[in-house]
Amino acid sequence: MLHTIPTSDIGPLGPPMTHAVETCVHCGFCLAACPTYRELGQEMDTPRGRIVLMKEVLEGTLTPADAQPHVDRCLGCLACEPACPSGVPYRDLISPFRAWVQGKVERPLAEKINRFIAAQTIPFPARFRLATRLGQLGKMLRPLVPASLRPMLDLVPAQVPPAQAWPAVTPAHGERRARVALLAGCAQRVLDPDINTATIEVLARHGVEVHVPAAQGCCGGLAWHTGAPAAAQTFARRNLAAFPADVDAILTNAAGCGSAMHEYHLILRGTADEARAEAFRHRVLDVSVFLHRLGLRDLPPAETRPQKIAYHDACHLANAQGVRREPRELLRSLPGVELCELADAHLCCGSAGTYNLDQPAIAASLGEQKARAVIATGASVVASGNIGCLTQLRLHLARLGSPITVRHTFQILRDATTRAR
Ligand code: SF4
Ligand code: SF4
Repeated sequence: MLHTIPTSDIGPLGPPMTHAVETCVHCGFCLAACPTYRELGQEMDTPRGRIVLMKEVLEGTLTPADAQPHVDRCLGCLACEPACPSGVPYRDLISPFRAWVQGKVERPLAEKINRFIAAQTIPFPARFRLATRLGQLGKMLRPLVPASLRPMLDLVPAQVPPAQAWPAVTPAHGERRARVALLAGCAQRVLDPDINTATIEVLARHGVEVHVPAAQGCCGGLAWHTGAPAAAQTFARRNLAAFPADVDAILTNAAGCGSAMHEYHLILRGTADEARAEAFRHRVLDVSVFLHRLGLRDLPPAETRPQKIAYHDACHLANAQGVRREPRELLRSLPGVELCELADAHLCCGSAGTYNLDQPAIAASLGEQKARAVIATGASVVASGNIGCLTQLRLHLARLGSPITVRHTFQILRDATTRAR
């Protein structure tokens, strides 16, 4: 129980945070699952250690500054949740704590600049596109760029694909089996817009009418996970208003966005929109889950050739949404596909939103380990369901000189069948 300060001082996020703190019995089973413990080997960089730190800050026996470095190093990968026998809902603690503690710790100027740039560009596709172009210029002038900004340059792709737009409504091919609305995302539509094109095409081929609401915006995940609750609430409210009620599901094809939309009830907790957010989040599904439930149509294959595909679990799909089986089964259903599992599959690839910018050394180490695990499978392609993971895998496979292709699950599904209706 939190003693020294009443939970009312923590605000509406107090009850879920208190519950999460109280559920931990300090057994330590989560330690082996935690990537930062594996990297740093310190108790304060484990789930258990962070829970104690956050509790003591909330009780006033530690200052926010004491806990901040360890809380900052948390990837938010939630690998600790499935490892915990007591069912500690760590997700109810980490982002709400970051939201609560924001503004209570003075950050170094370089960190403030990085966070400001990320917050003002990534959620807005036009600005992010411009930023990636400037980043390409920055890569050429790398020695002149401040060291604190260089991790950003590493994430800028050599080529930025041309912008793509998607129809407000794409009709189902043949008999309509369902109607859905798709979140188009923000970073994804700049870094790899073909993922949305492939998603819409696959859904339509399987009899799904796909709506892409024009008024939608960023899911708010970046703001929520970096301790900017007001911005996260603005994004969440925009999507609550933008997505229609008369569709069978609201779909995402980016694990991080899906996970954030599933947390709209926390983001909007204690506001007039909490009940709407609660109803909304139950309608959000990852696109792989939706298609798996709907069932694949028997479509003519584009080409049947043996293919080894490695599958990387995005943390915000596997841990945050419990989605592991569906994308694997969709890929395995393709003729000629041999699906390969990665060693230490539960370990985060180090992407984790802006983690590459905030904690570049840990992010690089985890990224390299993940790329080596992919290479060790002998696969020619690696699939995943999150743009952050795909970007991280591309970066680290390229650094290791690997020719392995990095694809979203739905790009592979699209390419496996012909365009014929
Ligand atoms: S496994 Fe769960 S109960 Fe045990 S220390 Fe970790 S968070 Fe606490
Ligand atoms: S979310 Fe990931 S990095 Fe953070 S404590 Fe849990 S396992 Fe460790």
